[in-house]
Amino acid sequence: MVQARTAEPLLIRNVKPVGFDTVQTGTPIDVAIGADGNIEAAAPGLPQAGGRTVVDGQGAWISPGWIDLHVHIWHGGTDISIRPSECGAERGVTTLVDAGSAGEANFHGFREYIIEPSRERIKAFLNLGSIGLVACNRVPELRDIKDIDLDRILDCYEANKEHIVGIKVRASHVITGSWGVTPVKLGKKIAKILKVPMMVHVGEPPALYDEVLEILDPGDIVTHCFNGKAGSSILEDEDLFQLAERCASEGVRLDIGHGGASFSFKVAEAAIQRGLMPFSISTDLHGHSMNHPVWDMATTMSKLLSVGMPFTEVIRAVTAAPASVIGLPGENLLSAGNRAEFTIFNLIDSDLEATDSNGDVARMSKLFDPVYAVIGSEVIKASRYQPRPPKLVRHSHGYSWR
Ligand SMILES: [Zn+2]
Repeated sequence: MVQARTAEPLLIRNVKPVGFDTVQTGTPIDVAIGADGNIEAAAPGLPQAGGRTVVDGQGAWISPGWIDLHVHIWHGGTDISIRPSECGAERGVTTLVDAGSAGEANFHGFREYIIEPSRERIKAFLNLGSIGLVACNRVPELRDIKDIDLDRILDCYEANKEHIVGIKVRASHVITGSWGVTPVKLGKKIAKILKVPMMVHVGEPPALYDEVLEILDPGDIVTHCFNGKAGSSILEDEDLFQLAERCASEGVRLDIGHGGASFSFKVAEAAIQRGLMPFSISTDLHGHSMNHPVWDMATTMSKLLSVGMPFTEVIRAVTAAPASVIGLPGENLLSAGNRAEFTIFNLIDSDLEATDSNGDVARMSKLFDPVYAVIGSEVIKASRYQPRPPKLVRHSHGYSWR
């Protein structure tokens, strides 16, 4: 919903920067933002001129605005999506990237009803399948070649190139049946024509995670990289682990994409211990993953911290790293004249227990706790999502927790 924006200049006091190239991490500063939403100054002890809205950061951290590279927010156009407001600024996330909820047949609705009115910046990977995730998994989007229309994909991209940042392919047999890796090859061809990256979801083989990696180029993205699914976990097959390691070192991006079924503490912990970091941390939030087990971006970041990913790497994985995928600047984000877009958060002591997609539980001794999102001169109060208890839901293949 578009709301009237208050256009008053802003002064954010006493915040500790992290994730910026031009200021020292952890040294408290103030940030002055003009009514036009652009940064005027960022330095210790700025004068408090009249007429400014003052936000006291109370020593909290300030980072570039968090970016979630994998969410599903085509609410109303797909059965699985949530609203941008449920995973956006109020959760500390200023940019949301929808991972293939819309295909070429319904991207215009996604643009008109979701992208354009939203407060958050929204970008999208266009689903290779024409229908996108209309009736997610009940009516899969990639059953055979009739589900892909190359000409219409090229036209859709041309009409929406300011919003579309890549092509999304879900490569697992739940979606593609026995079609194997062919849709990934077709997606790669289209991504090459359009000169955009491809994001591939790996899961139940076929296609094999290994085959997918062989097709990807530097700049492409594997989402659900640390999943714990049989036949798709990098832990159960040393050849696959080494292949993932090599591809990551060559520039293929490993993205978390937590989701309902695709993040394992054990896999993440073992990979990070061996030095294999995820490139980006994303939630794969949708209607079937939010209450159990994902909750929100802050909790997903806390999970990676709990398995050994360093604090500054976690911040990079939700700021500069995903920014580079979607063509946003990653430098000088605290410099005068640039648009203000920040997340203000605390890192609090905690003993919260959180669950991964395999049902394994880990204790979070530190928790990312968002306080504000700043978008231009607008300050939005933020907090972690408070999940409702999971419900056992009956569906066509049995029961699952939602
Ligand atoms: Zn997804």
